[in-house]
Amino acid sequence: MPSNCALVLASLALLCALAARVPDAPAEPPDTITPDAIGVPAGPPNSSAETSEEPPPHSPPPAGSASSNVPSYDGRFRSDARLLAALKGIPAARSRADSALRDRLGIQPPAPDDTVLQVRDALNFSRRRLVPVTGDRLATSLDCTANRPRAVITVMAEYVVAGVVDLDREILHETVHAAFALRLGDGFARLPPWIREGLALWTAGQGPERVRYYLAHRDALDDPGVLINGLDGPHGLRDYPEDFLAFDYVEARRGAEAVRRFAALLLDGRPWSAALAEATGEDWPAFQAAARVHARAALDRLADPGLADYRRIAKLGDEPFPIERAQPLLGAARAFRASHAGSTHARGTLFFEGKALRALGRADEARTAFETVAEAAGTDCGFEDDALFQLGELHEAAARRPEAAASFARAVSEHPDGGRFATALYRWGLALHRAGRTAEARGVLQQAVATFPQDPLAREACGVLGK
Ligand SMILES: [Zn+2]
Repeated sequence: MPSNCALVLASLALLCALAARVPDAPAEPPDTITPDAIGVPAGPPNSSAETSEEPPPHSPPPAGSASSNVPSYDGRFRSDARLLAALKGIPAARSRADSALRDRLGIQPPAPDDTVLQVRDALNFSRRRLVPVTGDRLATSLDCTANRPRAVITVMAEYVVAGVVDLDREILHETVHAAFALRLGDGFARLPPWIREGLALWTAGQGPERVRYYLAHRDALDDPGVLINGLDGPHGLRDYPEDFLAFDYVEARRGAEAVRRFAALLLDGRPWSAALAEATGEDWPAFQAAARVHARAALDRLADPGLADYRRIAKLGDEPFPIERAQPLLGAARAFRASHAGSTHARGTLFFEGKALRALGRADEARTAFETVAEAAGTDCGFEDDALFQLGELHEAAARRPEAAASFARAVSEHPDGGRFATALYRWGLALHRAGRTAEARGVLQQAVATFPQDPLAREACGVLGK
């Protein structure tokens, strides 16, 4: 599972474009590594980035796309069928998002010219260091450089290609952010995160799936109560279920009309606590207490029927993973998939089944399992990148070096937020080296050492590079 376990990857950068630069975006200019030399597998590299510094993700998109509803994209996946299919569906998704804002949330969607959607690459392989331009899969920001502010929704191409985002719902989610940001400007940044995210999740219908996903997160396996830690305080991805459940509470108690009333009052500039009191009849302390009770009960109500069994499987398959656990894990995983075929956790279970099979030396069966897990189709089980990594190791063990390199390459190229990103980058380069593809290997390993100099594999990489 990715360490940052990002399922909802929407963040709102509320700074104007002139002031904002993604802090961890590498600042150095591209060096001599060319994308061709490192053999990026998923489509041609971003040629426009080879000679110039890339703009930050919230910069205005290329001319011509701002008012057309069709995004322009010239990144490294521009020939990838998965990305092309997604691009084709974007105008319809935007139109559905506008309808949902009206029908579900009761607010006017932004005017077409006020919102721009751009698809871009998170990773730029022409840079010396391979650092994603943002940790988010999608983001919405406000561009104040023109006469009137525009909301810029940025979709990172990698996650579309990897199939780990439901683009339709994510575009709706971001359009809710865009509508509020355009109307409230800086005032939107001052709203508590639970309101910003909760309203977007509620409108996009993402809440129940988000609850089920985080209930299966390893941090919540022992105590699901960690997900309900109060609407106040620091905010992270694991808070999204509780954010949604606050609005689920409003709907359960007062009806969806109360949520719409709350949204309308916010957009009218009413302070959020006053808007909440008017829409729900409860002051903030009473609301907080009641929402918490609702959320705790909702966890049980929304949990996948197989969650208790899945928890046992996830614990059996967790690291460290002694061989004695392989057979019981295989049995439990197969029983789960037989009895919970439609479960949210079926693909996660298949990952653990693959792990058990690999430990038992049943490499071909393990490979089939990992290949299935890696092919997400709009849902994120949290193990797609791990499955590609496991596939790389299986190929390597069987001396299928080009295949190993291709699997590690996909783990890097399609999962910039993966928990094993650094290791996969090194393993990709080392697999290329063993495959005799020296020039490509050098390119990847140089990038690995430049990006992650402290990694345990850096020494081996430097040996190959003759440093
Ligand atoms: Zn969001």
